[in-house]
Amino acid sequence: MANVPEMFGSMVFNDKTMKERLPKATYKALQKTIQNGDPLDINVANIVANAMKDWAIEKGCTHFTHWFQPMTGVTAEKHDSFINPTDDGNVIMEFSGKELIKGEPDASSFPSGGIRATFEARGYTAWDPTSYAFVKDGSLYIPTAFCSYTGEVLDKKTPLLRSMERISTEAVRILKLFGKDDVTRVTTTVGPEQEYFLVDKELYDQRKDLIFTGRTLFGAKAPKGQELDDHYFGAIKTRVAKFMADLDSELWSLGIYAKTKHNEVAPSQHELAPIFTTTNLATDHNELTMEIMKKVAERHGLVCLLHEKPFAGVNGSGKHNNWSISTNTGENLLDPGKEPAKNTQFLLFLAAIIKGVDEYQDLLRVSVASAGNDHRLGANEAPPAIISMFLGDELQGVLDAIEKGVPYEGTEKTKMQMGVDVLPDFMKDTTDRNRTSPFAFTGNKFEFRMLGSSLNISCPNIMLNTIVAEELQQFADELSKASDFDTAVMELIRKTIKEHKRIIFNGNNYADEWVVEAEKRGLYNLKTLPEAMARYVDKKNIELFAKHNVYTEKETYARCEIQLENYSKTINIEALTMLDMAKKDILPAVTAYVSELTDTALAKKSLSADIPTDVETKLVSDLSQKLVCFSKKIEELENTLIAAAEYEDDAQKYAEFYCNEVFAKMQELRAIGDDMETETASEYWPYPTYGDLLFSV
Ligand code: ADP
Ligand code: MG
Repeated sequence: MANVPEMFGSMVFNDKTMKERLPKATYKALQKTIQNGDPLDINVANIVANAMKDWAIEKGCTHFTHWFQPMTGVTAEKHDSFINPTDDGNVIMEFSGKELIKGEPDASSFPSGGIRATFEARGYTAWDPTSYAFVKDGSLYIPTAFCSYTGEVLDKKTPLLRSMERISTEAVRILKLFGKDDVTRVTTTVGPEQEYFLVDKELYDQRKDLIFTGRTLFGAKAPKGQELDDHYFGAIKTRVAKFMADLDSELWSLGIYAKTKHNEVAPSQHELAPIFTTTNLATDHNELTMEIMKKVAERHGLVCLLHEKPFAGVNGSGKHNNWSISTNTGENLLDPGKEPAKNTQFLLFLAAIIKGVDEYQDLLRVSVASAGNDHRLGANEAPPAIISMFLGDELQGVLDAIEKGVPYEGTEKTKMQMGVDVLPDFMKDTTDRNRTSPFAFTGNKFEFRMLGSSLNISCPNIMLNTIVAEELQQFADELSKASDFDTAVMELIRKTIKEHKRIIFNGNNYADEWVVEAEKRGLYNLKTLPEAMARYVDKKNIELFAKHNVYTEKETYARCEIQLENYSKTINIEALTMLDMAKKDILPAVTAYVSELTDTALAKKSLSADIPTDVETKLVSDLSQKLVCFSKKIEELENTLIAAAEYEDDAQKYAEFYCNEVFAKMQELRAIGDDMETETASEYWPYPTYGDLLFSV
């Protein structure tokens, strides 16, 4: 094994490299930009660019690319070489400050939600110096933000950076009221736990559904699934272990803090968790992690599936967004300390989050919506589509006491005794986990568990940061007017708990009773993407984003539109893929099997009328009836797709049609297909089965 500290970040133009390679004055100027957002002087940029280029060339680079996160759901890059012609017909390798700071990619083919017409092709990418440049596949990658010629934001990074600014400003105001004048900046931190599946590449290549849509559209359940719980935290198989080791090395060299790896609940499902970092970096790193997972898998003859629901009947994949807020002085603002009841500052931040999550439940649901994630939310494997918060016994006790205006008695920490002398005793954690909660307090951070595995984490974090910034602003406005700060804070906390405690739920979120109870409490239950999107453009939400300069009204509408369009297109592709599989593969395969059975029966009869042909006859009859049904369902799905065209001009109605009509027909077609699979001889079935896919690695 390579020397990890030595290889860690070796492909990153990070602080250490900057210190080594930049003149002192340049380094200092760049640090001021990184830390305080000061504009970068072009002369400084020129020196930085040149140093970056020399370093990148030593790492084998010939090209550079601005790397950005448009609304496609994947990252984008366009590579330019460093070459510059000289008078004598040769070339030299050059990279200017201008090229580092600004790019002008043609933006016409990226989704803009109707913000720009195609003829306004120009877009800008602008260097984000808070995220380090890195080297990958022979190119120098420069993380950038992406906007249109007229300044509308076309990416996920810009609003994230804006939301981080907002929460910082308001949190600093609050901390000033607590006398913390030394805090000048507050950042949100995130550690995203990433789930994924690994399947054999040879089997994958035989499945059009996996190739075109990332999930199986047909497939009968295997005799064994996850019912024995024998995969979760199970011993990692050699082939997977090799993949994981390779992945870790690649991630470490890119400066990504890959920390934990283990098998997940479903067969062939795994998880990787990094150590948390600033939200902006965590987002870039998570995008890179997903990309590298796919690339490394290929090297091992595997395919990494990041879809939220690749297989029916076993767990889908999610991403847990562990989120906290910390100061530039190193304080985690969500750390309750030893005595939460006396930690007014912590309780005030907690109150702001409770109020924010309650008032903007709909936005949090919107932030995790995707066609893929609709399969998970509400199924008994992921948190339901209802947003609620879990705080744990101790905090709940503190809040109850505050609400009632009585002193907090406290819960004694108990010693866990293992009853075996050689094992150490340890203190029991008072914040027992509630694994079913969508938004759980886990000691010194919140864990937002509704994200789908393929999601870019910027969206939920934009929403979270903005919501909490709004509440902190309200609190700071109110408290800065108070004559008696201590009394005013406690009163504000008490009032907030009273008004918003409906969002707190400590019970089992998977239980049916919760759905009923949540409705009584007036909480949203937005089951599908179209339902959620209708809330995106609610007046209060548009106002929130506009007020905090995160999205203009136009940009909010555009984002909503992009989501709706993407949803309809995704289901359309799935429906077309199903039809292709059904008509070209499944129908002919079952027909051929029926024909063989018929031939066998006829041959037997021609030998002697006494030979029984009951088995063949029954199967032929049964499968023939199913084939009729199957072909009827094919026709129905085709007709439904044609009918969809009527709603094409209204993104919301179009998506609703795909959700309610097209998807329903797909399910019906699948049911018969899967049923026929269970009766058709293996040699005739055109695809690797669930058993093959889930248990072959
Ligand atoms: P789990 O039991 O859910 O696996 P862990 O304690 O392993 O929880 O942490 C999960 C993730 O939370 C890790 O990525 C970790 O780095 C991250 N995390 C820990 N502290 C913070 C924090 N202050 N802010 C953001 N993420 C954090
Ligand atoms: Mg977790």
